[in-house]
Amino acid sequence: MPHLHIGIVGAGPAGIMAALEAARRGARVTLFDTNAVVGRKILVTGNGRCNITNVHAAPEKYACADPEFLRVAFARCGHQGTVARLRDLGILIYSTPDGWCYPLSESAANVAEILAAALELAGVEVRLQTKIADIRPERRGITLAIGGGPHTQTFDRVIVACGGKAYPALGSRGDLFPILESLGHRIVPIRPALAPLTADIRRFHKLQGVRLDVGLTLYEGDRVLGRTIGNMMFTEYGFSGPAAMDLAHLVSARPGTYLTLEINLLPNVKVALEELIARKRHEPFPVRVALGAVLPPKIPPLVMSVAGMRPDARLCDASEAELARLMETLTSLKATVTGTRGFQFAQVSTGGVPVGEVDPATMASRIVPGLHFAGEVLDVVGPCGGYNLQWAWTSGAIAGAGAAEGE
Ligand SMILES: Cc1cc2nc3c(=O)[nH]c(=O)nc-3n(C[C@H](O)[C@H](O)[C@H](O)COP(=O)(O)OP(=O)(O)OC[C@H]3O[C@@H](n4cnc5c(N)ncnc54)[C@H](O)[C@@H]3O)c2cc1C
Repeated sequence: MPHLHIGIVGAGPAGIMAALEAARRGARVTLFDTNAVVGRKILVTGNGRCNITNVHAAPEKYACADPEFLRVAFARCGHQGTVARLRDLGILIYSTPDGWCYPLSESAANVAEILAAALELAGVEVRLQTKIADIRPERRGITLAIGGGPHTQTFDRVIVACGGKAYPALGSRGDLFPILESLGHRIVPIRPALAPLTADIRRFHKLQGVRLDVGLTLYEGDRVLGRTIGNMMFTEYGFSGPAAMDLAHLVSARPGTYLTLEINLLPNVKVALEELIARKRHEPFPVRVALGAVLPPKIPPLVMSVAGMRPDARLCDASEAELARLMETLTSLKATVTGTRGFQFAQVSTGGVPVGEVDPATMASRIVPGLHFAGEVLDVVGPCGGYNLQWAWTSGAIAGAGAAEGE
């Protein structure tokens, strides 16, 4: 069907990618956003550097009700396909040794500028500061109600790329979810993900500001809910940093429940510490100094106190049982997690349109003909590290192509 007119709600990364893919296939595209600029949220990603994708982005990295849905989607547009598409637009990418990818410019603002220029070059009509208030399927096409007033516009296809509810100050507030529900979609409850965790930190208050690599295990009673490994920061309210934030969706799914976080302070340096202790075992070597060889300076006094060791304990005086207790404390320090810091501080939300109601080959709704979805509006969430932008690029590219080419 030539010259379809496609309306896209949301000029975030998913909506922008969808617009470019649809325009490339000859569709006429109109892109709406409440914000005054396109890609408003992109500007804050990666602390302004834009962690744009991840070399290891693959279906199994995501929390999604149907892994097969993601397999189909990533087979159509995965990490490599995205890098190639972004390179074509002028966004050149490098990756760190652990696979996190950034633009060579190290500038999220430059990424947003390039995308805005690409939209213009592709002839996409961009309508900013324009809120879509309603979505109404017609006998032919779909009508969008524009703003609060009487203005409407009817399109052959509509792509909903309105994001979730995370960081509402940047434009995505979840106002279209009730409308999607009224159209027949079952909306999975929206909850904060990739948010800092709140915890009872009385025991850890001296560690505020300390940042290190940890292994984390989250328990509900005896049941393991999740494990992560990565950087974490002790804060005045609990824990921040990727390792802690990657557990947020498991915490926010259990409101009002106190969970146990087990912190392994030695995920990468246990062997080095054991070797040092073995070498100095019979010398009057301060335990605090040995621990300081592999840990930030504020940690050894706290861990020794929790393990019941005197601050001036020496390796030659410590019993085997005392050293075993110290190691146990270092690898399984316990904290009580009380919740997350909520949508205001969340990088993404979980929940939204269930993937079972969407065709992964086109991102078309299985409920409303002519309606497609892309990005965070779908119930797919990845960990920190560029995975969520990758999902926006993947689903956006598929939705744009699907809407432009589908029957
Ligand atoms: C502080 C922060 C840092 C982040 N850092 C990273 C990172 O480094 N790497 C990474 O992979 N991910 C990161 N993320 C997550 C990433 O930004 C999101 O996964 C991504 O933006 C989702 O893209 P989207 O297009 O689906 O939604 P959004 O980017 O939220 O875009 C949706 C757009 O729709 C518009 N909209 C909503 N409703 C309407 C309506 N009714 N009418 C018109 N317009 C509407 C909104 O204004 C918004 O611009 C970060 C998020 C935050 C908040």
